[in-house]
Amino acid sequence: MATRLPSPPRVGMVSLGCPKNLVDSERILTQLRADGYHMSPDYAGADVVLVNTCGFLDSAKEESLEAIGEAIAENGRVIVTGCMGKEADVIRARFPNVLAITGAHEYEQVVEAVHEAAPANLSPYIDLVPDAGLKLTPRHYSYLKISEGCNHRCSFCIIPSLRGDLASRRPDAILREAEKLVAAGTRELLVISQDTSAYGLDLRHAAYPLKGGGEVRAHMTDLARELGRIAPWVRLHYVYPYPHVDQVIPLMAEGLVLPYLDIPFQHAAPNVLRAMKRPANDAKVLARLRGWREICPDIAIRSTFVVGFPGETEADFEYLLEWLDEAQLDRVGAFRFEPVEGASANALPNPVPEEVKEERYARIMVKTAAISAAKLQAKIGRTFDVIIDAVGDEGATGRSYADAPEIDGEVHLRDAGHLAEGDIVRVAIEDADEHDLFGVPLAD
Ligand code: SF4
Repeated sequence: MATRLPSPPRVGMVSLGCPKNLVDSERILTQLRADGYHMSPDYAGADVVLVNTCGFLDSAKEESLEAIGEAIAENGRVIVTGCMGKEADVIRARFPNVLAITGAHEYEQVVEAVHEAAPANLSPYIDLVPDAGLKLTPRHYSYLKISEGCNHRCSFCIIPSLRGDLASRRPDAILREAEKLVAAGTRELLVISQDTSAYGLDLRHAAYPLKGGGEVRAHMTDLARELGRIAPWVRLHYVYPYPHVDQVIPLMAEGLVLPYLDIPFQHAAPNVLRAMKRPANDAKVLARLRGWREICPDIAIRSTFVVGFPGETEADFEYLLEWLDEAQLDRVGAFRFEPVEGASANALPNPVPEEVKEERYARIMVKTAAISAAKLQAKIGRTFDVIIDAVGDEGATGRSYADAPEIDGEVHLRDAGHLAEGDIVRVAIEDADEHDLFGVPLAD
């Protein structure tokens, strides 16, 4: 008689917040798959729903609470994890029926809570975990987390109190994960952490043996070089402009790492940077950018800025606008300052009135959109490699080296219906608008 397979319990997942949280969700789901669970795409089919929350800003906390409320209303059996796990009393006060609450990166506890809520029926016949785990991102790109926590104490940020000081992963373990991801179809690795340039400091940049012989230092440059040998595209996020970052630029010029750096400058005016307690805020940043462009002329720099930080004067803001004219950044995201519960910046004097914040926000958006548009116009007539994210009947959408998924622009292709997701193709750029490029793939 044939073995009757028990039907596996099903887990629903709502993942909020930043790419780092998404990586956590992937890890949790990977473990649950290994334990015999299946995923449910909707509330109705789930035996239990996991909500992975974000607690970075007050607005994100509210969004997390709303998501928990929705999951309770739709399903009723809810486990909460992620950054808001630190505020279990707030969650319990609003939703006393939540089954369990765990904090960020408490993978084992979350998995245990799921086991308790919906016991698994592991079957060797049906439960196989793909080598690279179960992914929430499309197969062709993956986030690769290289460290947790942060040694800085920026005055507007509560991440160090939520996640602790810098704790780097061993470089050999990171490389093994990268190999698995590439073997499972990843073509672009997005390296993430709170401060990628600080990677390995806590490990004293020690060297670790590599599987095939040789060794690798726990250092950003060495790690970037090795990752560049594993994956076709490697993109570095959350890098600060420390002098040692200069060593990564030749790797970009060589084509080992994408000529792209995501540097959250947040401001340029010395007074504001001091009040923000930002790392690497010396006056030599513009000179450093010039030096990088000499070695790697096409390097794309992405950044984010906060306007309306307490004490920011009109002169500080104008300094920032002039600095942006000089810096000619490729991609810029701007935010109006928002106090986060527990951040020391909340106690700073001279808060900026809301209407002034709005006005400055509008001005910085106009400025950075104009710079971006001019930089994109200059790409018309040139050719670039593009990674394909989506294919339609006739066209396709992808991204160039200058575009990280979800946060930057896109390249829209005509006559590209024959392409597949994850292909990297050479494209002739024919047109541009403020954020996106338009082009056609070149014949092989
Ligand atoms: S560098 Fe500053 S903003 Fe970034 S995580 Fe660390 S403390 Fe927060």
